[in-house]
Amino acid sequence: MNFFRMSAHVCRLSVLCLCLSLLSCVLIGSSASSLVTVKRTQMHMGTLVSITALGRSHDDANEAITAGFQEIKRLEQLLSTWISSSELSKVNAAAGQSAVKVSLETMAVVRKSLQVAEMTDGAFNIAIGPAVEAWNISAEPRLPTSEELAAVKPLVDLQSVHTDVWERTIYLEKPGMRIDVGGIGKGYAADQAVLVMKKAGAVAGVVALSGDIKTFGRLPDGTAFPVGIRHPRKEGELLAELDLQDEAISTAGDYERFFDKDGVRYHHILDPRTLQPARGCQSVSVIAKEGIWADGLDTGIFVLGAERGMDLVEQLEDVEAIIVDADGRILVSSGLRNRVRLSKGSGQ
Ligand code: ADP
Ligand code: MG
Repeated sequence: MNFFRMSAHVCRLSVLCLCLSLLSCVLIGSSASSLVTVKRTQMHMGTLVSITALGRSHDDANEAITAGFQEIKRLEQLLSTWISSSELSKVNAAAGQSAVKVSLETMAVVRKSLQVAEMTDGAFNIAIGPAVEAWNISAEPRLPTSEELAAVKPLVDLQSVHTDVWERTIYLEKPGMRIDVGGIGKGYAADQAVLVMKKAGAVAGVVALSGDIKTFGRLPDGTAFPVGIRHPRKEGELLAELDLQDEAISTAGDYERFFDKDGVRYHHILDPRTLQPARGCQSVSVIAKEGIWADGLDTGIFVLGAERGMDLVEQLEDVEAIIVDADGRILVSSGLRNRVRLSKGSGQ
């Protein structure tokens, strides 16, 4: 799974670059304040991470950014299944054998992932790893045979993921099972980075792990942070823009990691029922107070499809979404309609 895989997010970076360049223009253009703005970019969790901080001094802003990056590195060590010493790697290595003691934090992330699974009727599934591997979409993509997919199907089974909150253990019942938080962890990392940045004294800022973005506070001129959403089919163009304040946005798209074969697009978000790439959407952007929900839900809603996904969004408090369905139609949730600025010609 590609939670932290290098080179996995090249396409998505263009969204980020667009929105961050927009952001830097706004930041640099604001002279009405004594706040200092610093932005730094590093590679973590297999993707470019940009952190912007507004502080009362250059040192304050810089320290907050350093704290944010350190927090993201810490979470990578804890949760990445690409790191064999991580807690989740240990859980996976013991699949079919024994329960593994984990930290409160790992338990909380896994439990929230299971909650998203419930909310999305199983469309979000952190046990999907063996199927993602069968497709190998990030490295040398290939069409797995139906026998190969049938062989891994029993492993993609959330009923066999046992969490014991009191003992603080996780047990995967079947040998060969794996859980990973690739579809939700970057949103969580953005949340946590914002917390430590605030503690370190930042007045406002943005943490962006590729398309998982969380903002806090406002720009020096009092306006909220503008972010752009990439058009899923028009490279380099924006679908929409909106302003965020103390909110997160996360986008799942079929343009991030994919290959075409005989005119069919195969991408990295799989439907746990069929183990085939989900076909109901081109992109799903979810806005929520916390990145962990935005990130988990974007993947789950992508699998649920546009109509069912939007129904779910309308039921949830403080969750909004912009969905581009399989035919390129744009659906905007009711709470977002007067906030979002759709680009001219964004429809298809
Ligand atoms: P990314 O930022 O890595 O593209 P997304 O939030 O779009 O993350 O989630 C996609 C990733 O989640 C995939 O790369 C895969 O590792 C994992 N994944 C794929 N299908 C599912 C699914 N149905 N439920 C949960 N995770 C999934
Ligand atoms: Mg996600």
